[in-house]
Amino acid sequence: MKVTEHLAAAKDTIVSFEILPPTKGKSIQSIYDHLDPLMEFNPAFINVTYHRAEQILKTRKDGTLEWVEIRKRPGTVGICAALMNKYKVEAIPHLICGGFSKAETENALIDLDFLGIKNVLALRGDAAVGEKFFTPNIHGHRYAEDLVRQVVDLNNGRYMEEDIIEGAKTDFCIGVAGYPEKHFEAPNVDTDIFYLKRKIDLGGDYVTTQMFFNNDHYFNYVKKCNDHGINVPIMPGLKPLTNKKQLAMIPRVFNVELPVELYTEMMKCKNDADCEKVGTEWLLHQCRGLLAQKVKIIHFYTLGKPSVIYNVLKQLF
Ligand code: FAD
Repeated sequence: MKVTEHLAAAKDTIVSFEILPPTKGKSIQSIYDHLDPLMEFNPAFINVTYHRAEQILKTRKDGTLEWVEIRKRPGTVGICAALMNKYKVEAIPHLICGGFSKAETENALIDLDFLGIKNVLALRGDAAVGEKFFTPNIHGHRYAEDLVRQVVDLNNGRYMEEDIIEGAKTDFCIGVAGYPEKHFEAPNVDTDIFYLKRKIDLGGDYVTTQMFFNNDHYFNYVKKCNDHGINVPIMPGLKPLTNKKQLAMIPRVFNVELPVELYTEMMKCKNDADCEKVGTEWLLHQCRGLLAQKVKIIHFYTLGKPSVIYNVLKQLF
């Protein structure tokens, strides 16, 4: 079932989760251990992030150096198939432009289609580790909108090889990313929303937001998007804080602000257990605010702390 169909069919607020593939060397059981308790809340779907390869400098035995490409978290497509098989739930692979040629993307989409995957989240991806700015693959896409265009082409049976006439049409529902506090490269929120609208006009079916810790950012963003003529569902994404390191890391990496009240309470904590309590209360408070406005769905970035999400959902549903 497509995300848009789930949302249209939902009578009450539904939930969805996002997970990361395990780091290379770990088994998929770590994902099952993470998700098993959360399945009690019947997620409409589970997103699986994609992590591009990194170039690292390795020392050979003879002391000389060589650049080696490593992929720390492979397995997005395989995990999607495994989740669908194990939990009978929709899995949404994230697709990124970074590091991919258009031909590789097309082949990945064909694999996903053959696996019966009906949804993809189309993203640009960040700059490669060690690079300041995002650089597309020489045969790849520069912006997420170019990826959206490619998925739409395949949905219309248009393949890269021009001699494929009347190619099989895929039927992907396409999600795109949105940033209530603007994407860090955008000069202002309006310009960012201008480009978001292009992704939607080209075929994006819904938006999943970057995490935010102040619901006002989300509600203002939805209003602004509507004012710009974006009328597709805009799914709020939430993440709990669980330790003090995140107080510096989250604003830097995700370009989002932490409200003074949350920051102050976290700073008072003596250990991670205290931090988790504060993070749980804040997440609960955010969820209640969203539920009061009857949002159709809440998307949870579960990333490593499913117990907090579990405790919050247990109190809400
Ligand atoms: P785009 O929509 O291409 O936008 C990038 C920037 O360019 C923005 O500033 C935008 O305003 C601007 N822009 C867009 N189009 C144009 C244009 N035509 N001309 C000029 N400027 C333009 N990253 C991963 O690597 N893996 C993941 O699994 C992953 N999952 C994510 C899930 C969600 C819900 C979100 C919100 C982000 C995720 N990211 C992921 C991070 C994302 O890849 C980065 O934030 C990336 O820097 C931007 O991706 P985008 O798809 O929003 O890019």
